Amino acid sequence: MPPDRVAFDYAPARESIDIVTVAPRNGLFVNGEFVEAKSGRSFVTFNPATEEPLAEVAEAEAEDVDLAVRAARAAFEGVWGRMKGRDRAKYLYRIARIIQERSRELAVLESLDNGKPIRESRDVDLPLAAAHFFYYAGWADKLGYAGLGPSPRPLGVAGQVIPWNFPLLMAAWKLAPALATGNCCVLKPAETTPLTALLLAEICQQAELPPGVVNVVTGAGATGAALVTHPGVDKVAFTGSTEVGKQIRAALAGTGRHLTLELGGKAANIVFDDAPIDQTVEGIVNGIFFNQGQVCCAGSRLLVQESVADAVVERLKRRLETLRLGDPLDKNTDIGAINSSMQLEKITELSQSGEDEGAERWSPPCLLPERGYWFPPTIFTGVSQSHRIAREEIFGPVLSVLTFRTPAEAVAKANNTPYGLSAGVWSDKGSRILWMAGRLQAGVVWANTFNRFDPASPFGGYQESGFGREGGRHGLEAYLDA
Ligand code: NDP
Repeated sequence: MPPDRVAFDYAPARESIDIVTVAPRNGLFVNGEFVEAKSGRSFVTFNPATEEPLAEVAEAEAEDVDLAVRAARAAFEGVWGRMKGRDRAKYLYRIARIIQERSRELAVLESLDNGKPIRESRDVDLPLAAAHFFYYAGWADKLGYAGLGPSPRPLGVAGQVIPWNFPLLMAAWKLAPALATGNCCVLKPAETTPLTALLLAEICQQAELPPGVVNVVTGAGATGAALVTHPGVDKVAFTGSTEVGKQIRAALAGTGRHLTLELGGKAANIVFDDAPIDQTVEGIVNGIFFNQGQVCCAGSRLLVQESVADAVVERLKRRLETLRLGDPLDKNTDIGAINSSMQLEKITELSQSGEDEGAERWSPPCLLPERGYWFPPTIFTGVSQSHRIAREEIFGPVLSVLTFRTPAEAVAKANNTPYGLSAGVWSDKGSRILWMAGRLQAGVVWANTFNRFDPASPFGGYQESGFGREGGRHGLEAYLDA
């Protein structure tokens, strides 16, 4: 231990799980009721921090998806599509308030099912999920003033497929704008993280949302495929891998149905020599180790100006030595579990390729729990642009460090990717940040910060990161016939 550091232990500060009742068996949410899948089939969702089963969940097949789409259509034509915006808003406000009231329960359930630290589910996912409903509730009676024509109309039934990295937050991103604009929804959460979407369905019941306005069909990829290709769906919204996004785009080509895709990323986090180093190091940590790096807009490529590269990497390594990896429910935990064994395998394989291709690997000393899926925070230096770890989305706590000399070189390297979701620039000079922001091909460019989200701010990608925007006024457009 360096002489300037004091050793001390943290006492355990475990969030109690008593607040959550996980039903041993969970049905699909169709037409306002929880029902078994027609086939009676189910699957198990696990706690990735312990590998223990959490609950059984009904597995929807094409027949169940069809019932859900029909329920959404009936609700759209009978009630929701005709309801005045100010009345729809009341339901959205009610859902937002119940999310706030039940936030501890939702946060604990999210950490149990996903493996993310309770500090993040409690302080990031939950407040943002509620904020999305509040924000879009405010738009529901003002759609004529959104710059999309005097009387924009809803599209009808939205089929929405979401991933496992922010299960509740992605459900909120999808449902809130769709409902505010008068659409009815069928939502398919990821197979490994269905529980908070089902609790959100219960919240819809509690808010007395008319039956069929929101439906949740749980299952694996086949359930998602049945939903996005269902002819009764007017609009598909997908967040997930670029590979599946491409399949969905191909399946929908020529059908005339609306589509938005929010896919992968390989964001550059660019540090200039005049950046304030301590804040920058915090931003780098937040950029790649937040949610174990399982973030589509993660700052997974660190581009540092050559003159400060050694100092930045040195400071970063010291900071990583203080990160605490372990029990996601402990309030002192910084790094939780990886969501699944499959994801852990992918991170492990790509990290090995980094070593094999000649980059230098470093992790702080840290004990990994014996059970569960864990990966230590990892930095690769000596990375070149051709390495797989500089090109492919790892979706884990792994940072690739590259260097540059001039702003033009930083832009060229940052843009040297098929993706284009986000980027970050750290510099003391506002003019330089603006110069960079104008040239970076990314949907979001953060200045002297990273991974900051706000419901009023549009989010989305370029190129293989997808198209369409979620959040803000722009997020309304995807759900309106304007
Ligand atoms: P997927 O793209 O497979 O999963 C995203 C969602 O789509 C899940 O609900 C999934 O269901 C569903 N799905 C899978 N196949 C289909 C299909 N053919 N039609 C419709 N829906 C489908 O991502 P993975 O979970 O497999 O993760 C793989 C990689 O993708 C990660 O390693 C990461 O690199 C990237 N990823 C990127 C995300 C992002 O936000 N950009 C989010 C998640 C992953 P189910 O989970 O049940 O299979």
